Amino acid sequence: MPPIATRFAPSPTGYLHLGHVFAAKVARDLARDHSGTFLLRFEDIDHTRVREEYYAAIEEDLAWLGLEWPGPSLRQSDRAQAYAGALESLREAGVVYPCFCTRREIEEEVSSMSRAPHGPEGALYPGTCRHLTDDEQERRIRSGRQPAWRLDVAKAAEITGSLAFTDMIHGKQAVDPALLGDVVLARKDIGTSYHLAVVVDDAFQDITHVTRGEDLLPSTHIHRQLQAILELPEPTYLHHRLVTDENGVRLAKRHDALSVRQLREGGSSPDQILGMLEARA
Ligand code: GLU
Repeated sequence: MPPIATRFAPSPTGYLHLGHVFAAKVARDLARDHSGTFLLRFEDIDHTRVREEYYAAIEEDLAWLGLEWPGPSLRQSDRAQAYAGALESLREAGVVYPCFCTRREIEEEVSSMSRAPHGPEGALYPGTCRHLTDDEQERRIRSGRQPAWRLDVAKAAEITGSLAFTDMIHGKQAVDPALLGDVVLARKDIGTSYHLAVVVDDAFQDITHVTRGEDLLPSTHIHRQLQAILELPEPTYLHHRLVTDENGVRLAKRHDALSVRQLREGGSSPDQILGMLEARA
């Protein structure tokens, strides 16, 4: 196998908890077992949720656990230009459109439809702005309304034809372009989104194996479409299970999620923490 590269991509919105440690370890172990590289990237595009102290705390906890990466870590907040460039390419390819809807308008539209389309995460965008004329788009932009940009998944699928991805746990998966509907690729307020940023950065960091929680499996259908249109390499995927507590509640969803900080202050050693994961995973 040629050299592989994996990454761990936490958001600096809190301390590292056991669920994160599991994700980091999956990525680190895969790289280590193939003499590859394990990289760190901060998903910090949503500046309203990020706090400066968490970057250093996450790095410190990872290093303390022995989950080391060759620095420096990448910050998505430094990459706005790269995301803007990718969005421009998607615009040129004709696969994105501006969306002026507010959240409330979308909710109202969905509840007025007798058969609103649904996906694994709930109601999908009903397509309200998909067919606005160029004139109407311009008129709204000129009137000062800042749009979000959505992927037109049907148009994207026309260009890409059928796609698939390989997951080391779940096997080969056919891409279902309609699964998440016309997702937002550039939010009004931050000019990008998780989907756009992760695809651009995985290519930028030459990530060959994307490991992450299985809650993100549906997102990979979108990511493959974006990679195909942006002509980016296709990584191999590994969507791992999520660590839960004794009641089956995802650790990340618990407000008191066991943080490495707390465990460390309570006297746990790195080996004990990594051992706890083995018991829970
Ligand atoms: N920040 C995401 C998470 O912690 C990672 C997403 C990804 O790896 O693509 O779940």
